[in-house]
Amino acid sequence: MAWNVQVLEITDEHGHGIDKYRKVANSDDEGELHPLCEHQHDSIDEANHCPEALAKTVEITGIPDGSNADRAAMLEAEAEQMLTEAAQLKDQHKASNTWNRDTDSSAIAPSLW
Ligand SMILES: [Zn+2]
Repeated sequence: MAWNVQVLEITDEHGHGIDKYRKVANSDDEGELHPLCEHQHDSIDEANHCPEALAKTVEITGIPDGSNADRAAMLEAEAEQMLTEAAQLKDQHKASNTWNRDTDSSAIAPSLW
């Protein structure tokens, strides 16, 4: 699931922009907008840096400000984790091969493992 975090202009009941701004998050899955704070900010920049919105962003998306840089760092950490697991699985596989070889009655040469 990917999240989009953006600052949108707040609209009145008629759908007209009221020149106030709020940061929102929406996911690819739901397509639903989640407001990230309750304020009505005077500018896009102010809404973008609202501490409440930043905290809420992490809470909802698990990613600080939802930027790609953070996403990349997270993926790298995950990849590292998976490589570690793969290495462990390989070690186990190697260990079981050694075991089969040692216990194979047809093996003539002494095992060097
Ligand atoms: Zn705010």
